[in-house]
Amino acid sequence: MFPRKRVLVTGGSGFLGSHLCSRLLSEGHEVLCVDNFFSGSRSNVEELMDNRRFELIRHDVTFPLFVEVDEIYNLACPASPVHYQHDPVQTIKTCVHGAINMLGLAKRLNIPIFQASTSEVYGDPEVHPQTEDYRGCVNPIGLRSCYDEGKRCAEALFFAYRRQHKLPVKVGRIFNTYGPHMLPNDGRVISNFIIQALQNVPITIYGDGSQTRSFCYVDDLVECMIRLMASPAEFTGPVNMGNPGEFTMLELAETILDLTGSKSRLSFEPLPEDDPRQRRPDISLARNALGWEPKVTLREGLEKTIAYFETMLREA
Ligand code: NAD
Ligand code: UDP
Repeated sequence: MFPRKRVLVTGGSGFLGSHLCSRLLSEGHEVLCVDNFFSGSRSNVEELMDNRRFELIRHDVTFPLFVEVDEIYNLACPASPVHYQHDPVQTIKTCVHGAINMLGLAKRLNIPIFQASTSEVYGDPEVHPQTEDYRGCVNPIGLRSCYDEGKRCAEALFFAYRRQHKLPVKVGRIFNTYGPHMLPNDGRVISNFIIQALQNVPITIYGDGSQTRSFCYVDDLVECMIRLMASPAEFTGPVNMGNPGEFTMLELAETILDLTGSKSRLSFEPLPEDDPRQRRPDISLARNALGWEPKVTLREGLEKTIAYFETMLREA
């Protein structure tokens, strides 16, 4: 059994945060979940509410927070383009002021802090697959910049606190992740395609569908976060977290049509601005430093995610 810790998870009622909270509780820890419900919902953590080691606080991380904890996972930030572009100024504030506030808390308590960074720090990458030393190709004034540059600034802050205050920081660059608790309407490709397939309406392929992404199932991702937090203090990352399997959006659509037995046709729509052409993590560092690699195949993960959305549509 692990020694019991009190763990703060910001953005804890979002998609990834809710799975992380469950996992931490299952290991016997106390979890303080902080969320302003911008893109997360109480329903994601409903089943945890009866657990006496779980506490939910409505709070916006752009304001300071004074609590006593042993570890912080900083996940608060809308992750889907629809949500983070809805209020770009707030997205930047959440990335930057949120990081400053959580780093300040970690500094006062001198505790480890994990930052949920993103593959978006690589922008539309010119090297493939992406290793952690690649510095990225980001448009600093484009539609995605509120998120990409916000997350890059957060990384800069984490490493400034590391150098200046010797804080034990842990930075994970998360690639596209999917699974139950994704929102049905946040425009991400997996949720869009599954809902469209289940409703037998056209599958919206942006561009010609030849752009690629790598998709990691949420349980694998949470395991990687836990291992990074448990790693020696000298290991700060940044470390890529994702599944190196790479698929075009057309391949993804075909797999989802096959698994759902849907009759949906494909509908080709305009490609959004600054949409990266390709993305695949090189996970050598995570393999070597954390002994981690993803275990769930795309088909297995999609089956579980489809089952989740089927239930949601049935109950709606
Ligand atoms: P999500 O939108 O489901 O969850 C984010 C949570 O943060 C939500 O519950 C939201 O209400 C909360 N939040 C937003 N702004 C806040 C604020 N100012 N104060 C307090 N809470 C706030 O997204 P997710 O997919 O669970 O992503 C979690 C983290 O992982 C994010 O930081 C995201 O950038 C990062 N990430 C996710 C992915 C992915 O594929 N899901 C990929 C890369 C990085
Ligand atoms: N995409 C698509 N149809 C959709 C939603 C998204 O073809 O209905 C494409 C999108 O243009 C992008 C890829 O799927 O190339 C992944 O999009 P998502 O928003 O899920 O993630 P991100 O672009 O942030 O990696």
